[in-house]
Amino acid sequence: MANTLQATVTLNNGIQMPWFGLGVYLAKEGQEVVDAVKSAIRTGYRSIDTAAAYRNEEGVGQAVREALQENDLRREDLFITSKVWNSHQGYETTLASFHESLERLQLDYLDLFLIHWPVKEKYKDTWRALEKVYSEGKVRAIGVSNFQVHHLEDLLIEAKVVPAVNQIELHPYLTQKELRTYCQSKGIQVEAWSPLGQGNLLTHDTIKTIAGKYGKSAAQVILRWDLQSQIITIPKSVHEARIVENADIFDFSLSAEDVEAIDGLNRNQRFGSDPDNFNF
Ligand code: NAD
Repeated sequence: MANTLQATVTLNNGIQMPWFGLGVYLAKEGQEVVDAVKSAIRTGYRSIDTAAAYRNEEGVGQAVREALQENDLRREDLFITSKVWNSHQGYETTLASFHESLERLQLDYLDLFLIHWPVKEKYKDTWRALEKVYSEGKVRAIGVSNFQVHHLEDLLIEAKVVPAVNQIELHPYLTQKELRTYCQSKGIQVEAWSPLGQGNLLTHDTIKTIAGKYGKSAAQVILRWDLQSQIITIPKSVHEARIVENADIFDFSLSAEDVEAIDGLNRNQRFGSDPDNFNF
């Protein structure tokens, strides 16, 4: 279990990934994303989750370069994730997209590269491209996002490399028990996107009551629940005070009863799209 902001989990290929990171979906390219990423790294975050589709990789790269200097860090102290977008899936187009992400970020390598969504008829060719850049040492780990059990089963028939990570929508209204159990059985680490339900879960009575007991905020309780459930979490904020607040979860522990109470809020409710029925 993570007991500090920089604690890491060992992925199935032996590399270390921080349990906690900053998500930058909808953080605007330019000053907004630069400031958010720099605030996070200054606070002690070491993992940043971006994607080609977020259109802010240049800003993330700029922030990384500046933060390395200002905080006396080395590139290898950080863990940078990006993802190939649906329109670029397929073998050659994914190879091109990977290199474009590196170029925009101005990095020599990525720590993790993910297939953003399981585009039918394409994700296996996309995966072969990820295996290629992985074999060339240009990315330290490869994984998927929004893959259901049946997508993973299908992928694993031909895959030479088992995905290191599956990044999925996961929060107290969508606890994803079955998919988590499957991933665990295959050595695939689960990572939560929209861990705060895009902010929608922060006013839930049960969460607020639990938060009150520990003198913590609703966001802190949910993020702590992720970590105690062995789930990597990447809450998004562009506000420094919230970036600091979200990471301040290493001085308390939820009781087993409270973890269970949060598990019990599951309604299989998504705030994002359904991986079996998306049209983008
Ligand atoms: P989130 O659940 O992290 O919620 C973020 C929102 O919650 C913020 O915009 C803000 O309004 C609010 N918030 C954050 N901290 C708060 C605090 N302390 N107090 C009050 N409000 C607070 O939602 P998200 O951005 O959708 O998900 C996080 C990250 O997951 C994204 O930035 C992205 O990196 C990743 N993601 C991936 C996918 C995918 O398909 N792989 C999809 C969506 C998101």
